[in-house]
Amino acid sequence: MKTLPRLRIGHLPTAVEPMSRLAATLGGPALYIKRDDQTGLAMGGNKTRKLELLIAEAQANGARMLITAGAIQSNHCRQTVAAAARFGFECTLVLYPSTPTDALPAADEPATGNLLLDKLFGAKIVWTQRATRDQTLNDTFQAAWEAGKRPYLIPYGGSNAVGAAAYVLAMQEFLAQNQPVDWIIFPSSSGGTQAGLALGSRLFGFSGKVLGISVDEPADVLQDRVAGLASATADLLGEKANFGPDDILVNADYLGTGYGVMGGIEQEAIHLFARNEGVLLDPVYTGRAAGGMIDLIRKGFFKVGEKVLFWHTGGSPALFANRYQDQF
Ligand SMILES: *Cc1c(COP(=O)(O)O)cnc(C)c1O
Repeated sequence: MKTLPRLRIGHLPTAVEPMSRLAATLGGPALYIKRDDQTGLAMGGNKTRKLELLIAEAQANGARMLITAGAIQSNHCRQTVAAAARFGFECTLVLYPSTPTDALPAADEPATGNLLLDKLFGAKIVWTQRATRDQTLNDTFQAAWEAGKRPYLIPYGGSNAVGAAAYVLAMQEFLAQNQPVDWIIFPSSSGGTQAGLALGSRLFGFSGKVLGISVDEPADVLQDRVAGLASATADLLGEKANFGPDDILVNADYLGTGYGVMGGIEQEAIHLFARNEGVLLDPVYTGRAAGGMIDLIRKGFFKVGEKVLFWHTGGSPALFANRYQDQF
């Protein structure tokens, strides 16, 4: 496998721990957790790993500014601007409400959660709407380019082949930790995490299954996206591996009433993890994926004796966002 330029940012390897109390409470399979909420950059999360490769590429390109985009409570944006601060880049974030019907924050509304941290790390923020995000991101990049700022564009969620390659390395890291499991379960959205884990499974011979719980897309859309990204990542790494949608396991049964809308399953999962394991989930991603995993356990989806690993991808700063305050 080709070695890509990489900065060391993360606190790696992240721990793999048993979740014995939660497993006893649920009465199903043995449960484990991989703590990528503890990757160490600005309260951690899966974007730390992607940024190790993305920022190395930005540096190699002579960039001086990072531009990316996300929803108002984007963890990806929070971690990107923190990395920009650490490595001396300017950073512009294009932010938008997560649904077409949500308003932009009022000028006098205090910033909370990830948005508070974006400001603390010195982000310049360009506001837009979900429907116009591509155009605004392009315009912002063009303007910075023409102003001679040497911008580097990081895609939504850091999910291009470079970002996804970080999760190939993460799978290698996990396999070296010698904790055999039958299932790896995690939230999947822009697809880089799942593409990397799927490719890593194939390259390094993981014998279990990698199941993404979709956070915001129908299964077929996400399977196509992840398969394309996994194949492109194999190319980038000089490996021959081709993926079709059927190679990618996605469960999209837990979309609830949309991205970022906390429902009963997220609430219950957040409480169960907090009170049985002292682990914080988040309302958008890990709450949804853990809620899905809990539902699958209760339905008897896993066979007796199977071991299930929840790969925690971070996100807990969103617990402190205004919009969720009356929901815990
Ligand atoms: C970005 C993010 C995800 C989704 O990862 P993708 O690689 O975009 O699919 C999951 N959980 C958290 C907490 C995230 O911030």
